[in-house]
Amino acid sequence: MRLGPVPPGDPAVVDPAVVDPAVVDPAAVDPAPVDTRGRAMRDLRISVTDRCNFRCVYCMPKDVYGRDHTFLPRSQVLSFEEITRVARIAVARGIQKIRLTGGEPLLRKDLPVLVEQLSALTTPLGQPVDIALTTNGALLAQQAARLRAAGLHRVTVSLDSLDDATFMAMNDVGFPVAKVLRGIEAAREVGLEPVKVNMVVRRGHNDQDIVPMARHFAGTGVVLRFIEYMDVGTTNGWRREHVVPSAEVVARIDAVMPLEAVPPQYPGETSSRWRYRDGGGEIGVISSVTQAFCHACTRARISTDGTLYTCLFATGGHDLRGLIRGGASDEELADAMAAIWRGRTDRYSEARGAAEPLAAPGHRIEMSYIGG
Ligand code: SAM
Ligand code: SF4
Ligand code: SF4
Repeated sequence: MRLGPVPPGDPAVVDPAVVDPAVVDPAAVDPAPVDTRGRAMRDLRISVTDRCNFRCVYCMPKDVYGRDHTFLPRSQVLSFEEITRVARIAVARGIQKIRLTGGEPLLRKDLPVLVEQLSALTTPLGQPVDIALTTNGALLAQQAARLRAAGLHRVTVSLDSLDDATFMAMNDVGFPVAKVLRGIEAAREVGLEPVKVNMVVRRGHNDQDIVPMARHFAGTGVVLRFIEYMDVGTTNGWRREHVVPSAEVVARIDAVMPLEAVPPQYPGETSSRWRYRDGGGEIGVISSVTQAFCHACTRARISTDGTLYTCLFATGGHDLRGLIRGGASDEELADAMAAIWRGRTDRYSEARGAAEPLAAPGHRIEMSYIGG
């Protein structure tokens, strides 16, 4: 088979436009379905559990996720075999990156077994699939080596402050900063690098920690990313005044540690990158509220119970588990996923930014369920 040149920055994709149509069918080269806004299905976030050992006030507030909260029964949770099957089918239809999330993914028993199964997947062009994980880091020190050995490529650790009092007030279970830092170190030691650290900035809660966090991770090789606090779900009482715009985050750091912009590595990169002028590495800012990136959003999400969502702010999903357990063939599953993606119109954050009417309040899915 003769293929055209590979575009820079995205080695796993051959641009159908540069493939000679007389030689090869472009759809066979890039099988990704494209939605109504021209976005291909490329990334898959899989939530492996709806449970968590933290109760972050902006994600799983205790008054909603208290002792009497009912989590999914085991029978409704996708098994590793079911997850791997869906992932394999999705990879055959264009998915290039898989991120395991939750809830807290490290609470899922034997997670390295799933990582091993997923890391064996290859794209139609024979490229390995990028396997990443987002975790609160609480159990990372114990599990980093096994995850790495199982084939995990990258890890993102969420950490909202270096100050115990602030961090404990945000995770709401009294979990200390030092244990998360130990998890980050363990990840680095086993080679899960570059480790990324996500800090959700909430004005009046942890915005005083922006510069201390930047100072702490500068020069370490860890990439710190500041995330604008979002109105995901309906339980966190989100208010726009709580959002610290990324431009303000950059200005606050730049005032004490001068920064310069780094050009995006690939079109549609969700994080804008900045580097320290003194060579101390880089940071990222994810402006989900002030500079929505829906136009480049290529993410599909599968919740713990096997529902496919095409947006973090979705009010409804599509039942893949019913299809899987109802005996659908691989082809039927692939066609169902592709049809759902082709019908996708989502642009919630852009509509929010443009002050257009949003999804009816009371119906959006919670982050810990859909997978952050
Ligand atoms: N438990 C893991 C963790 O905390 O990393 C994975 C799941 S968590 C839902 C994924 C990411 O979503 C975390 O980085 C978390 O800080 C972020 N997140 C949760 N609620 C958010 C919100 N309302 N706005 C912005 N980010 C949020
Ligand atoms: Fe748990 Fe992560 Fe949500 Fe915090 S952000 S409550 S760690 S799922
Ligand atoms: Fe993607 Fe939905 Fe977020 Fe827009 S709002 S970037 S479509 S997940």
